[in-house]
Amino acid sequence: MGGRHLRKSATTMLVAGLAISLAACSGNDAASELEPAESIARAALVGADDTPYGEVIIGEGDGGLIVQIKAEGLTPGPRGVHIHEIGKCEGPDYKSAGGHWNPTEKEHGLENPKGAHMGDFFNLEIGEDGTGSVEAKIDGASLKEGANALMDADGAAFVVHAGADDLKTDPSGESGGRIACGIFEIQRFEPAN
Ligand code: ZN
Repeated sequence: MGGRHLRKSATTMLVAGLAISLAACSGNDAASELEPAESIARAALVGADDTPYGEVIIGEGDGGLIVQIKAEGLTPGPRGVHIHEIGKCEGPDYKSAGGHWNPTEKEHGLENPKGAHMGDFFNLEIGEDGTGSVEAKIDGASLKEGANALMDADGAAFVVHAGADDLKTDPSGESGGRIACGIFEIQRFEPAN
């Protein structure tokens, strides 16, 4: 239970900090959520024929993980997006990534009373320009250590689905086929110059 169901304003505020820190040119900003050389998990989203579809960056924030999804090159409309439990992306169906990341053994969906998976999000809305972004915080999760660590022995992946997630139907929200996939890799966060 608890803070996974953030109100949108709170989520936006949390991620404003991440966005600012991602844009920062030096490590001198004491307010930054992510410091240079801090560990992050990054997944480059790739679809059929190695088409790039953006990226997902996850860093550790106060009491949880801060997730920033930036997609591009997709057709307009809502798309289900999730963290999946296995860091393996074998096309064309990407079933190799397994089910949604669910270390706390809940049901699927942010609108499911018995939910949600830690890997669940609201839909990614793709605009007319083919881009879309979602920012969220996953309370109680960590990057590499602890009971709810993202980067466990078999890693983790991020998957974009063909259709919208209904946010409540277990186990996957009926969001259709998997059109893009990215494997999370631990990197040192290096702000762009
Ligand atoms: Zn789910």
